[in-house]
Amino acid sequence: MKMLNSLRSIVQEVNSAKDLNGALGIIVKRVREAMNTDVCSVYLLDPLTERYVFMATEGLKQDAIKKVSLSLSEGLVGLVASREEPINLEDAQNHPRFVYFPLTGEERFNSFLGVPIIHQRKVLGVLIVQQKEQRKFDEGEEAFLVTMSAQLAGVIAHAEATGGLDSMDVEARKREMVFKGVVGCQGIAIGDVVVMSPKADLSVVPNQPCDDIVEELKFFRSCIQAVREDIESLGKKLASHLNQEERALFDVYLRMLDDGAIGGEVETLIKKGVNAQGALSEVILSHVETFSMMDDEYLRERAADVKDLGLRVLAYLQESECSELDYPDNTILVGEELTASMLGEVPKDKLVGIISVQGSSNSHVAILARAMDIPTVMGAVDLPYKQMGKLNVVIDGYNGVVYSAPSAERLKHYQRIYHEDKQLIEGLDALTDKPCVTPDNHNVALWVNTGLMADVFRSLDRGAEGVGLFRTEIPFLLRERFPSEEEQRIIYREQLEAFAPMVVTMRTLDVGGDKSLPYFPIEEDNPFLGWRGIRVTLDHPEIFLVQVRAMLKASEGLDNLRIMLPMVCNMSELESALYLIHRAHTEIEEEGFNVNLPPLGVMIEVPAAVYQAKSIAQRVDFLSVGSNDLTQYLLAVDRNNSRVADLYHSFHPAVLQALQKVVDAAHEVGKPVSICGELAGDPGAALLLMAMGFDILSMSATNLPKVKSVIRKITLDKSKQVLAEVMQMDDAHVIMSHIELLLEQEGISRVFRPAAV
Ligand code: PEP
Ligand code: MG
Repeated sequence: MKMLNSLRSIVQEVNSAKDLNGALGIIVKRVREAMNTDVCSVYLLDPLTERYVFMATEGLKQDAIKKVSLSLSEGLVGLVASREEPINLEDAQNHPRFVYFPLTGEERFNSFLGVPIIHQRKVLGVLIVQQKEQRKFDEGEEAFLVTMSAQLAGVIAHAEATGGLDSMDVEARKREMVFKGVVGCQGIAIGDVVVMSPKADLSVVPNQPCDDIVEELKFFRSCIQAVREDIESLGKKLASHLNQEERALFDVYLRMLDDGAIGGEVETLIKKGVNAQGALSEVILSHVETFSMMDDEYLRERAADVKDLGLRVLAYLQESECSELDYPDNTILVGEELTASMLGEVPKDKLVGIISVQGSSNSHVAILARAMDIPTVMGAVDLPYKQMGKLNVVIDGYNGVVYSAPSAERLKHYQRIYHEDKQLIEGLDALTDKPCVTPDNHNVALWVNTGLMADVFRSLDRGAEGVGLFRTEIPFLLRERFPSEEEQRIIYREQLEAFAPMVVTMRTLDVGGDKSLPYFPIEEDNPFLGWRGIRVTLDHPEIFLVQVRAMLKASEGLDNLRIMLPMVCNMSELESALYLIHRAHTEIEEEGFNVNLPPLGVMIEVPAAVYQAKSIAQRVDFLSVGSNDLTQYLLAVDRNNSRVADLYHSFHPAVLQALQKVVDAAHEVGKPVSICGELAGDPGAALLLMAMGFDILSMSATNLPKVKSVIRKITLDKSKQVLAEVMQMDDAHVIMSHIELLLEQEGISRVFRPAAV
């Protein structure tokens, strides 16, 4: 337990260091104390020189820092790093690999324990403890150092990537920095950062320069005064319920707000030019940390009080500030975990790019971004986003890379690609009214996925032939309560009318997973395996029935509706849902509406449904594959987790085989099958899907012209031949390259990405 506490407190302390050197200094000092050794040192790999550099020590000579270094295969350091495992020696000096550097003064120490510092499979350096006494470190000590190193690896990687930890000082803001993430939406964006954070969360508050210090101080003081009044009135209200000691707590709270305490510390930072929110968060978090590291339990508890107080002040600061959030004409929205409703807050014509620290390319924010065609990078985990307000950045959405404070050269390079992209899109506009037909006369229906009203206009502009997936949860996400039946009817009617006589496929509410409604929170350890999609709506028939009734009523006189059920895993879910839909239909007929029962379909998005596709198809009018979820469930890779984003691959042979199986099952019983996952909008994948026999490909309006341009150039025959070839391959990357090669040979690879990125 004691070990665990020191681990936790060391990591916490290291996390709060201002820069890499600060972090390393804390590591060597605290590890030496915790393990009671004579020496603790860190060597880090310098990728430029390919040497392990002596970076920090407690116990050896400070003069040696950054002066001593070893090649990759030199010394015990090189041995630990190349073997990627701990080395524990009683008598290090007599080891054949021991190398002596007089500068370090190492000769006095006999025992040696070195462990590699590894982050995402890469060795970053080596963490070492040494002792005079000749002894082997015991198992517990070795395990402690390994655990420590594993935890610190992430912090060190982050510090190396950002040039600092959480601090991006004035100088750092001027320097060009590169941050890697994953592709959310392709394209280039150049603009100024606006950081958006969830309300009242101290750890994600943007820390940026303030324009007018005097005003900011005035503003901060007025918020402190408001909190003071709140606490006083709360204290009075509760006075009769509290004992003296508890009442005294309110006085402590009030005193903490004083000039001599937290209030004063925040003001000092504001006077240095930091905005009030950022200053408050820095002061409160550092106090919270100090308290939570105390050994005394009572004092540790006080951390919660300080945090509570901080949140109260923050709420006032945010309340007055949020309405004033300024959106420049080229806003790049940045946040820890952006949500659909946050996107909704930025005026559409000002939003040019999105960067999310969390999430991955199949998170729903990324899907929305693609629908809106806004270049997006997801999972930029090293981004010091809190310090990036107002910074100029370039988003390279083709490679999932962000450049902050880009150099003039970098800007020029990306401006060129940006203009090229624009020309390409304009060129594709000419295809809008042309049919989607291969040179050997095979017709493929290209439909769109929608959610926002904006999608409707863009879809019509781009020549969509129907809607393969209307994500009904999006209007639900943008509200503060469930929309009523009539409110829903109006939304659905709008969609149906806009596309009539083209078909609109409406999916019943699919919440859970990463789509949680603010007013209907679902807290689960494994949300993607939990209560989501049809499971939620079958448990709440009142929500389901209202939605289906609204859809049916909306379709009166238009007759272009199809209804589709998400996340179906077994026949009894399907039977129950069909029963409810029939019931809703009977009810509204009894109410006097004259509506035909629309075609009903099921999304195939869990592996179980792939194996039951034939039975399911027999019970309904159509199938539609949700390849986003199907990929996640087949490969057991969370679609929303940036750490495993590299493993999420819809070209995985298992996914391709599952897709073919679904097409065959549907066609065997004479039912049409479509695909509405993101894969359908990938021009290369679209060729394979067409060859597999999908009747409809449904994608974001953004990708439709690109897919059409590829299909119009390549024959069905050729696509079938390529499909037969890739079905023999056993690796997703090889399959991807094979398709890219084909597009290159046909001279159409530009629709994938510009040659220069
Ligand atoms: C899918 O899972 O492929 C799909 C289309 O649905 P969503 O992305 O909304 O989960
Ligand atoms: Mg899905």
